[in-house]
Amino acid sequence: MIPGDFDYLRPRTKSEALTMLREGGDEARPIAGGHSLIPMMKLRMATPERLVDLGALSDLNYIDIDKEVRIGASVTQHQLIESTELHDACPILRETALLIADPQIRYCGTIGGNVANGDPGNDMPALMQCLDATYIIESTNGKREVKARDFYQGAYFTALETVELITGIRFKAPAQGHGYSYQKLKRKVGDYATAAAAVVLSMSEDNVLDASVALTNLADTPLYVAEAESILTSAPLSPITIKGAVKAAEAIMAPASDGRGSSEYRTRMGGVMVQRAIEAAVERADKTAKKGGLFGWLKR
Ligand SMILES: Cc1cc2nc3c(=O)[nH]c(=O)nc-3n(C[C@H](O)[C@H](O)[C@H](O)COP(=O)(O)OP(=O)(O)OC[C@H]3O[C@@H](n4cnc5c(N)ncnc54)[C@H](O)[C@@H]3O)c2cc1C
Repeated sequence: MIPGDFDYLRPRTKSEALTMLREGGDEARPIAGGHSLIPMMKLRMATPERLVDLGALSDLNYIDIDKEVRIGASVTQHQLIESTELHDACPILRETALLIADPQIRYCGTIGGNVANGDPGNDMPALMQCLDATYIIESTNGKREVKARDFYQGAYFTALETVELITGIRFKAPAQGHGYSYQKLKRKVGDYATAAAAVVLSMSEDNVLDASVALTNLADTPLYVAEAESILTSAPLSPITIKGAVKAAEAIMAPASDGRGSSEYRTRMGGVMVQRAIEAAVERADKTAKKGGLFGWLKR
């Protein structure tokens, strides 16, 4: 319950924050919503000597939508849910955010903190892989970009250096008519997923034109199921193509056995979540979408 001592810094600008992080080196940590970091500090599993609070950086709090969706790192889960523009452009974000934690946590927890944290239980990382998002990363040395699909290396191991900040996230706006679903099995409100799956796809009549599938809490990292798209687009949609995608997803899962169930159970539930997410996305998709129009961007 009692964290160790630390210095608290509250920069007013992004460049001030980056300087404070650089000067703090390995002992400094950014703090955003604090709803992953503070619980870890209370357990002394994290003992930073310097906290750099991102709360006053208004330049990290934006949602811009045109052909691309750009979301600042400090946007809270509550803001993601509230934004009607974001919901019109990319409704899976609201659907996913509503399955994260509870209202109080969503008022504080940020999208930047959720994707930077590196806990495989976080839901936004797989969604960002599903949307083929890019993280904008800054330090006093400048700016670089890393794809969400390349960012996660292991539990709490990411491509981020200690002196770096994720300042924003960007991804190509899905075209009108796409189908989407985030399916999450959990034991109760506020629990991390036993298994969860994000699916975004487009359809023309019975054909899947493009599809993207990613998984939460079914390995040490979020997982993008690269094979699922080719399987789902190989023939008109049928129970066989859906089963193929489910099998491809299950083949790359490696969940821990823990209080949420055995590895075998969680893998099977992962498959069920993938199947439900595909079916729900198909149900929502505009089936008249023409080939080439939608989700070409999902192909890398
Ligand atoms: C009871 C409970 C239930 C929860 N349930 C869920 C759930 O179901 N699904 C889910 O996804 N999450 C869940 N969470 C986590 C919650 O969503 C967190 O808010 C989120 O994981 C982290 O966001 P934050 O803004 O609070 O980050 P913080 O806690 O402030 O930071 C988390 C980590 O990210 C780093 N960091 C923060 N911002 C940046 C940045 N911009 N650039 C670089 N590094 C940064 C910090 O240094 C720290 O290491 C739950 C939390 C609690 C307490």
